[in-house]
Amino acid sequence: MAKISINIKSGTLEKEDLVVGIDLGTTNSIVAFVNPDTGKPEVLGKAGELLVPSVVHITHDGFPMVGNIARQALITHPESTIFSVKRLLGRSYKDVEAHAPYYTYRILDEADEKLVRIEVNGKYFTPIELSAEILSELKRRAESITGKTVNRAVVTVPAYFNDSQRQATRDAGKMAGLEVLRIVNEPTAASLAYGLGLNSSEAKTIVVYDLGGGTFDVSVLRIEDGVFEVLSTQGDTYLGGDDFDREIVNHWLKCLPEKLHLEAFKSLRLLAEEAKRQVCGGLLFEEMYTHSDEQFKLGLDYGSFETITLHLMDKTMHSLQMALKDAKLTPDEIDEVVVVGGSTRMPFVKQRLASLFGHIKVNDTLNPDEVVALGAAVEADVLAGNRSDILLLDVTPLSLGIETLGGLMDVLIPRNTKIPCKYVKSYTTSVDGQVNMGINVYQGERELTAENRKLGELLLSGIPAMPAGLPKIEVAFLINADGILTVEAKELRSGVQQHIEIKPQYGLSDADVERMLLDSLSNAKEDVAKRMQVEARTEAEQMIYTVTRFLEKNAVLLSDVEIKTTLELCNALKSTLTQLDKDTILKGIDTLNEYTRPFAERLMNKAVSSALAGTHIDKI
Ligand code: ADP
Ligand code: MG
Repeated sequence: MAKISINIKSGTLEKEDLVVGIDLGTTNSIVAFVNPDTGKPEVLGKAGELLVPSVVHITHDGFPMVGNIARQALITHPESTIFSVKRLLGRSYKDVEAHAPYYTYRILDEADEKLVRIEVNGKYFTPIELSAEILSELKRRAESITGKTVNRAVVTVPAYFNDSQRQATRDAGKMAGLEVLRIVNEPTAASLAYGLGLNSSEAKTIVVYDLGGGTFDVSVLRIEDGVFEVLSTQGDTYLGGDDFDREIVNHWLKCLPEKLHLEAFKSLRLLAEEAKRQVCGGLLFEEMYTHSDEQFKLGLDYGSFETITLHLMDKTMHSLQMALKDAKLTPDEIDEVVVVGGSTRMPFVKQRLASLFGHIKVNDTLNPDEVVALGAAVEADVLAGNRSDILLLDVTPLSLGIETLGGLMDVLIPRNTKIPCKYVKSYTTSVDGQVNMGINVYQGERELTAENRKLGELLLSGIPAMPAGLPKIEVAFLINADGILTVEAKELRSGVQQHIEIKPQYGLSDADVERMLLDSLSNAKEDVAKRMQVEARTEAEQMIYTVTRFLEKNAVLLSDVEIKTTLELCNALKSTLTQLDKDTILKGIDTLNEYTRPFAERLMNKAVSSALAGTHIDKI
């Protein structure tokens, strides 16, 4: 029911506030909201106006235009028309360098670590600003269609978006005047839209296969008692309908004159997409797509389309297999398969899924373009406090931990841990009187931090000088519902503390994540050996340190021969440190340990007798 409020101070009508869900897509964006009358999610606008192309055209005077008008400018003004900006969001030039030729606009080749910028007619734009333009346009349309104000939204991102990309999405929302209530993974939103398992207590395991224009995501979800849990996610932020189009362009180029006019080359991109849509359903069975104008004579049939894009299709199926493996499930344990994204209209997507999940029917009842926005609207409704029957859980794609002595990775949050979450672990100093402790935060599956990715560091300073091993330093890792990591370190005896929010300048692409996982598997044996060697070396270094300190402080308790032998054993142990064989090091530790054990007893006796002596003196 619509409400009318009057602002008594200004005497004006207060517009009702609408909380929306936004699918900020690589190719298309869409807004949805939950209709208060029906309690059901709906997309905003009528057919034709609801799907807003995520394209921004910058006019001569530097004015941005978004949507269908901008999309038309792709051919006429390719250098000032930005498409697929989502692929650049939260990324550095280094991240996108390999794909740079694909963009028709100018991406600045700047310092490795900095976020990329785009240049149009001497003006510079960040992907955050451009995404904000798209979001502003969506906000404007939503407000004009509903007559309500839109200030709060849930925005979706691919499951593989890292912290930097999520943060950039949030910033874009802020720039567009939207309070982003939450960043939600697209597959999670899609499953919400289907509402699978919401009305029954029966547990269901669901695969969400999302192939859009620029990204591919596959997730395994478990839904029970209204609780959604993401068991695993896999995907590729550089794989989508665009890549299928590019294969068609390459296919055509083989038959076209080698030196093609640049302009002509660019228009092939749009023709390729049209051809794809035609052979994937627009045409009658076995009909061929043809195009001819003064420049080209082009043709495509479904059979050759399948052949030239089969490797891309295979890639998605491979990711799907990996996701199942991560979730420790076989295809026959899956209860539902959901398809999302415009590219799932390609017939072989459903065919391949149907043959893998022979026991169930692929779920495609909702419009694949709208599914994500509809789910985002449901989530927005939950966050606006209108529903209490749904809870959302997500998982971390890679393990998170800190570096300990010898460059070892000490995991605090294992990969695939449900978030939001908090993990705490205690550490101590390794050197007497240590007042600072550097905490380096890493992400990855390898045993050595050198092979993982550093996310950030914090320095805990002001630890009161104490003997090694005495300070109690608690390190806490917190991941919030958006997947942003905060690290806190606190020395419990003194109360000194420090914290950072990890917002890397740029993060990992899904390909990086995949590579890191594969590396960790193929190097597992070698990694364990290295870890054992590093551990032995660290233990030896600690031993040498302790023994040397003992000699300095308590030389009076030992004979000259004992001191000499101890030093010799220490040196012998030191010389084994450069060796790879951990057993040699461990043997050295044992020998030194055996030899010096009686010294500790002597120290104890001395301490006890001096304590007794003290008592005695006190009494007199
Ligand atoms: P994104 O999530 O990246 O914004 P969408 O889910 O909107 O993408 O999907 C856009 C992609 O879907 C485009 O690559 C488009 O070519 C493709 N697509 C849309 N309709 C069809 C169709 N009938 N057959 C094949 N691909 C299609
Ligand atoms: Mg999408």
